[in-house]
Amino acid sequence: MIAQIIVDVPSSQTDRVFDYLIPAEWEGVIEPGMRVVVPFGPRKIQGFVIGLVETTTVEKPKPIFDLLDATPVLTTELLALGSWLSEQTLCFKVSAYQLMIPAALRTKVKKELKLADELPQLAPALRPLFQEQSVIAWTEAVGQNKALAKELQRAIKAGQIEVHYQVEEKGRKKTERYLQLAANYEELEPLPKRALKQAELLAFMERQSGPLSMARVLAEGQTTRQTVKALLDKGYLQESEQEVYRDPLAHVEYERTEPLQLTEKQSAVIRPILSSLDEERHETFLLHGVTGSGKTEIYLQAIDHALKQGKEAIVLVPEISLTPQMVQRFKGRFGSKVALLHSALSVGEKYDEWRKIQRREVQVVVGARSAMFAPFTNVGIIIIDEEHETSYKQEENPRYHARDVAIFRGHYYNCPVILGSATPSLESYARAQKQVYHLLPLTERVHSRAMPEVEIVDMREELRRGNRSMFSVRLLEALKDRLAKKEQCVLLLNRRGYSTFVMCRDCGYVATCEHCDISLTYHRSQHALKCHYCGHEERMPQTCVSCGSEHIRFFGSGTQKVEEELAKVLPEARVIRMDIDTTRRKGSHERLLSAFGRGEADILLGTQMVAKGLDFPRITLVGVLAADAMLHIPDFRSAERTFQLLEQVSGRAGRHDLEGEVVIQSYTPDHYSIEHVKAHDYEHFFQVEMVHRRQGLYPPYVFIVLINVSHPEITKVIDVTEKIVAFLKRELADETIVLGPVASPLARIKDRYRYQCMIKYRNEPELRQTLREIQQHFMRDINQGHLQVSIDMHPYLFA
Ligand code: ADP
Ligand code: ZN
Ligand code: ZN
Repeated sequence: MIAQIIVDVPSSQTDRVFDYLIPAEWEGVIEPGMRVVVPFGPRKIQGFVIGLVETTTVEKPKPIFDLLDATPVLTTELLALGSWLSEQTLCFKVSAYQLMIPAALRTKVKKELKLADELPQLAPALRPLFQEQSVIAWTEAVGQNKALAKELQRAIKAGQIEVHYQVEEKGRKKTERYLQLAANYEELEPLPKRALKQAELLAFMERQSGPLSMARVLAEGQTTRQTVKALLDKGYLQESEQEVYRDPLAHVEYERTEPLQLTEKQSAVIRPILSSLDEERHETFLLHGVTGSGKTEIYLQAIDHALKQGKEAIVLVPEISLTPQMVQRFKGRFGSKVALLHSALSVGEKYDEWRKIQRREVQVVVGARSAMFAPFTNVGIIIIDEEHETSYKQEENPRYHARDVAIFRGHYYNCPVILGSATPSLESYARAQKQVYHLLPLTERVHSRAMPEVEIVDMREELRRGNRSMFSVRLLEALKDRLAKKEQCVLLLNRRGYSTFVMCRDCGYVATCEHCDISLTYHRSQHALKCHYCGHEERMPQTCVSCGSEHIRFFGSGTQKVEEELAKVLPEARVIRMDIDTTRRKGSHERLLSAFGRGEADILLGTQMVAKGLDFPRITLVGVLAADAMLHIPDFRSAERTFQLLEQVSGRAGRHDLEGEVVIQSYTPDHYSIEHVKAHDYEHFFQVEMVHRRQGLYPPYVFIVLINVSHPEITKVIDVTEKIVAFLKRELADETIVLGPVASPLARIKDRYRYQCMIKYRNEPELRQTLREIQQHFMRDINQGHLQVSIDMHPYLFA
């Protein structure tokens, strides 16, 4: 038998199938989706088995050297998906496959086999392996005798042997120490009278019904390790190691929730979704529901329906929405059927969650972008909440969008895909209007609760009236009013486009990074300047490097600065600040939000993080400090982003019994992206924005491709980009527009110069082939590591 293998060498020459001979002992053992080690030139490298065939045209195929997996890490469907993904995003196949497996499997891991059954139950050939130990390394077991692989695999499938991947992680344990009373403790000599603490611990242990983890003994038994050790030494206690999943939520208790009686509007919207489920028909729905219209409840009930059919569900939520509140709603409804996958998990935790999915121990996965690759095999429903979020697009190779992957999988499993949002992306809404997606509108909040009242304050007017502070009179009044009523407020500082840069007031000099063409950001805690692109750091200068003046200050408005201002104007207000600095530590995001939820603060001040997913009944005021900060970013989506953010953050106010109010401060209050927030009028915003898109020839009227070229030498960058543009103009259709070469907005990063060009097209069947040719043409320079050519098929970032 021959195995078709994609080798782990990401380059154009090797981006194809290689045939290898399956050693006779491994016939029937090796399956598609497993990883193997194969000889490749002088080296041995990893590869993915993607198919099995009888014959090959290769004259003397080399045999597979080693087998890395006992069960496939990629399903047949994921293999097909990877191949499709590599065509769509122009990445190498192996990069697509690596993307779909957890990082733990990509790093060096030790694979161990653990005996899970009684030794005599094992096949005779396997018994010697476990004669003296219950755990043996996989390489050791298979290295001794290739023929054992088949027997081992059988035993693994039968559950007699478990496979464990030991991920090297500092300070993380996969096992926990458990303590219990020794069976014969009553026969031991009584404890000496003065050993009071030991007696207390003994009494505590006698009250337990079974083994207790060390952590709980220490906490609940109010004792010390020393005391525990004393009782262990004397033989009163016994300890054991118990394997535990690294469950990031082990400490959280979830209150079970029952499905709510759907409102009439919700019922109307869920009906077509349930039909699609019942008829096993793929359809993509765009659930366009205003904030608080009960979209999440619809997700929950649709998932429930799929689970009752014995199927599985994938739910994507933006990273930021993986807050306790959102997680609570899924865990509360589906309990231990839910796995969570997001970036705050450690490599080991992610691996454990992935393994639960692979072993079918869970039926629902809730996660960020990469959760879309969950290795389920019977998917019944796929949901993308806040579908307009740009975090669903991966900004490095493979540059895929989770929405496209969702639709691929939806097709494969004949199941519905639901895209939900209060402010859909222009692309999705346009598709819904053309009936490519099935539009499901929810125009009111649950039980006709009012949408919050929005007031837009013209900050130019404030300035004219002599108010130089960052708070308008109106916003300050509203804040004071809420403080008096003991209600809560959210303050959004839109930080994108606003940086805390350092400038000389006398000559206008701005401190920039010496490796990148970008201004340095001031970090108060270290009193240092940092480059957010390359990490370069320097001390805050005392005087201007350019003119020597001492009037060098940092500008811009960071959350810290707002916090200080708040302390001046509202000294009695209790403020929780949420930004990158206060949420860096694991779990801090969660802690801050639950403190706010418990009413430990009056004002939640933060960046974009505070705009989504929050559902607190006492929030009655939302303030936006600088609505237009994003509007001037050179990106055709800046108006769309502005509207989405304002609408999203407005939605945090008045979600329950108390009415909500929103105060938006702006220097361009008449801009349509701000104006339409007043009436929460997505429809009108959409229409105006579509006119702009048509005039500027931007998506959804055309598709765009962005090609970014970088090299340490500027002449080389320009030369290559010019050649690419010329080639594209020659090869592509006349109607297609090729723009460039131009310097990228970030013209230099880490001492590499950057140029770009852009393609705008409607119909270009040969496009991918043409782009592949470009990749191949510059392959040698690229492989040497000097030149980089990145191709982004549907770009969201224009840096
Ligand atoms: P969205 O996801 O559209 O922002 P949610 O699902 O969070 O809306 O619903 C808003 C609020 O209304 C939540 O507090 C939710 O518990 C409540 N809710 C949703 N559906 C119902 C219903 N059918 N009956 C009563 N309350 C509901
Ligand atoms: Zn830099
Ligand atoms: Zn100066």
